[in-house]
Amino acid sequence: MTALNAIKDFQGRFADMSSAEAVAAVMEGEYRDASARDVIAGALRQFGDRFALVSSFGAESAVLLHLAASVSKDIPILFLDTGKLFGETKRFRDDLVTELGLRDVLIQKPAEEDVKSLDPKGALWRENNNACCFIRKVKPLSAVLDGFDAWGTGRKRFQGGLREELPHFEASDDRVKVNPLAFWTKQDVTDYMEKYNLPRHPLVAEGFSSIGCMPCTERVSEGEDERAGRWRGKSKSECGIHMTLKENALLASYESSGL
Ligand code: SF4
Repeated sequence: MTALNAIKDFQGRFADMSSAEAVAAVMEGEYRDASARDVIAGALRQFGDRFALVSSFGAESAVLLHLAASVSKDIPILFLDTGKLFGETKRFRDDLVTELGLRDVLIQKPAEEDVKSLDPKGALWRENNNACCFIRKVKPLSAVLDGFDAWGTGRKRFQGGLREELPHFEASDDRVKVNPLAFWTKQDVTDYMEKYNLPRHPLVAEGFSSIGCMPCTERVSEGEDERAGRWRGKSKSECGIHMTLKENALLASYESSGL
């Protein structure tokens, strides 16, 4: 039974949910104990070409991308080029796309008018990192997701913080979010990378364990949380693409800043 048929069967139970919440709930029930590859294949079966994966081409992104390529090399891969990335990230992206044979990589940039009007000096990250993430990540992702009903991420529970309770399927902003690696351990990631001889982002060898934009990413010390180098010293721990638009707007003082 497909998730949509299941929803019809349980209409009463899901009556007060949005359709994305209902689909996510059914699919989570169906795929809770499934492997990461089966989760990706299930999402592709359910959503077809309305399913994409978002990748930062970060430290261990090769794992999710390799799994996706083993299901279909045509799954769209969305990459947010914030304009603040390390050059190494873009080179790693290009090399990995070639190595895995990914055929549909979409590079999404911030809207020029947002950057011109709100971050003309490129220093918004220093003054208001939530607003910076909003115009450079959240809005561009929201725009490109207009073409999709569901999107996948490489987040894992062991990364801690807001990720500790991740399911395989969840709903956000009327779309289904898919987290095929949610239940993987750090060791699972290492084992998979070794098994398939997958490349790590080149900055991992220089002490970076989680890699985002250059101004907001630092090295981590032995024993630190792997995301401790992101927005170090700030209360921020997520860029915002994993929160709802409403939560982001509040955080970035969206309305008062005229975004
Ligand atoms: S991570 Fe830093 S530079 Fe990148 S969008 Fe967010 S605040 Fe701006």
